[in-house]
Amino acid sequence: MKEVLIVGKGKSGLAAGRLLERKGYSVIYYDDREKTFIPENPVLVVKSPGVPSTHPIVQLFRNRGIEVIGEVEIAGRYLKGRVIGITGTNGKSTTTALVYHVLKKVWNGKVFIGGNYGIPVSDFAAETDDESISVLELSSYQIEDLKNFKCNISAVLNVTPDHLNRYRCFEEYLRAKLKLVNHTEDRIVVNRDDPSLSHLCKLKKSLTFSMKSKSADIFYSGGEVFFKNFSFDSSEFPIKGYHNIQNIMASILILASAGIDPAKAVDAMNDFKGLEHRLEHVRTLNGIVFINDSKSTNVDSLEKALLSFREVILIAGGKDKGIDFSPIKSLMKERVKKAFFIGETGKKLEKLFSDVTDAEFKSSLEEAVTSAYKSARSGDVILFSPGCSSFDMFKNFEERGKIFKQIVEELK
Ligand code: ADP
Repeated sequence: MKEVLIVGKGKSGLAAGRLLERKGYSVIYYDDREKTFIPENPVLVVKSPGVPSTHPIVQLFRNRGIEVIGEVEIAGRYLKGRVIGITGTNGKSTTTALVYHVLKKVWNGKVFIGGNYGIPVSDFAAETDDESISVLELSSYQIEDLKNFKCNISAVLNVTPDHLNRYRCFEEYLRAKLKLVNHTEDRIVVNRDDPSLSHLCKLKKSLTFSMKSKSADIFYSGGEVFFKNFSFDSSEFPIKGYHNIQNIMASILILASAGIDPAKAVDAMNDFKGLEHRLEHVRTLNGIVFINDSKSTNVDSLEKALLSFREVILIAGGKDKGIDFSPIKSLMKERVKKAFFIGETGKKLEKLFSDVTDAEFKSSLEEAVTSAYKSARSGDVILFSPGCSSFDMFKNFEERGKIFKQIVEELK
């Protein structure tokens, strides 16, 4: 039987293995955490997105001339129907979930969601048929490993500094994201306001969205969104905040590219609840509003969270990814009346922002929440938007958000 080696026994690696077994391959797994047998001559090596291409096993087989591909690439070989790929530094999951939410209501064929959000593509690729639409959230790591994969429609929502611990510089990270364009056949949805994406807007197959430019295909102006001969009142959109207007505009363009009537799409969005850990309202206690934005893992998502409220008491900080926070200094001055910083970046952020706001380091999330609550008055918003990843103190952003919510629920 033809042997395939899967490198990385995580969620995606295991899913790729299951798919290939169903397709008649003999699957062998390699993981650094286990001492495993490595086959001499596999027909194919599949690498999990978490495994860097510099990994010695990956290099070994590449040097031997054996094809090494990523999990999405292999799954893509079995995907039928149409494929929508969504990438960007922030907003991927929200936009992916929103597009899926609408398609589930208005599309007659099967609709699938997965990739970096939810289940790996390999888990449903074999279920797709010619009438299916698959909505995929794609991270830069997944895009890096694509070879012949094709999307019909893709979206690049924004590219701002992140993951600078894995990429050598911002340009390298940007290149990884933009590679999705080469894998798109029909339409690319692009954020016209993002200076890193300006050259993409000029491509013939691009459709653009903008918060300020009326020359974009869909744009926001004076509380309304305009698209062709339609306009929608953005205050009626189910998810709030500046960035969510961008996500909604991107979703309308994606859906319109898939042939969905924009008015129908907007109507189908009205009961979309938003996702857990993204500007999620937790509780209002004695008039004080608690917001969980644990998925905020970079400076751009923190900036967008601050832009969503007039004034907040902020809790931020976490693992240091080498991102520069100074670009949001003036926003901190304008919108943050008090800030509590935690984690690996806590002391650094306290020092950076102490001249623009009342900043204090706290050694645990619990201490930060109790201090924020003590300093708050009725009408205040306590925003937990870390702007950093969670791995210094928590297993992941989900655990971090759940612990935040638990602490808030226990407040008297
Ligand atoms: P991703 O899957 O790209 O991480 P999410 O939808 O999970 O995106 O949101 C991650 C964080 O970014 C959350 O804090 C959210 O409030 C914020 N966010 C969502 N959409 C955008 C956007 N378009 N621009 C900037 N920040 C965003």
